[in-house]
Amino acid sequence: MATIAWHGMQVGLLTKHEKEAIIAPIMAEVGIELIHTDAFDTDTLGSFDGRIERTLTALEAGKEKARLAAELTGCEIGLGSEGTFSAGPLGLGHALYEIVVAYAPAQQWLAVGRAWQMLEPQPDLRAHKCAPRRPIIAAATRDLLVRLQRPCPRCGTPDFSFDEAIAGLPCEICLWPSQQAKAYRARCQSCQYEESKACEGNAEARFCERCNP
Ligand SMILES: [Zn+2]
Ligand SMILES: [Zn+2]
Repeated sequence: MATIAWHGMQVGLLTKHEKEAIIAPIMAEVGIELIHTDAFDTDTLGSFDGRIERTLTALEAGKEKARLAAELTGCEIGLGSEGTFSAGPLGLGHALYEIVVAYAPAQQWLAVGRAWQMLEPQPDLRAHKCAPRRPIIAAATRDLLVRLQRPCPRCGTPDFSFDEAIAGLPCEICLWPSQQAKAYRARCQSCQYEESKACEGNAEARFCERCNP
């Protein structure tokens, strides 16, 4: 598979909550045309108001929406957007976590854009009824767009991202390997090709088990 030429590419999106108004202009920046469909009621996969219980994780639901979007629009790639309202970092307050998933059923690759923000409980969290969700969905879409434009150097599959932290940056005093990252690794989900980028410098002694147990 060669690197995907995004300009002129058509990508499907399944939503009946008007998310196309948020996602389409961002995709258009690199020439991707969004083909919108509402031919499937995504609320049957679980809804924010709890009317329909969610049995899938957010990632599974996003991937399933993306798969359906590709199928319903006839596009090679589908997008699915999914939000989760839950406790914030360290269990404090409330936060809204948004993902926008791109999935190519034939080539079997998946890329996930993510964003989150602290948010007070809202009376209706459906995207078209909840203005505070829109910038978070937009941020997740931008994250996805960056990932789509990182092809594997060997086979071209998108989202060759240096996401995986490898612990062991040496302590600045005793050089013992700390929990801080000494490198970040990218691995292709299709051909398994991988590369690492080493981190510069040393870990502060307060992160060292020996100097600051
Ligand atoms: Zn590859
Ligand atoms: Zn140390």
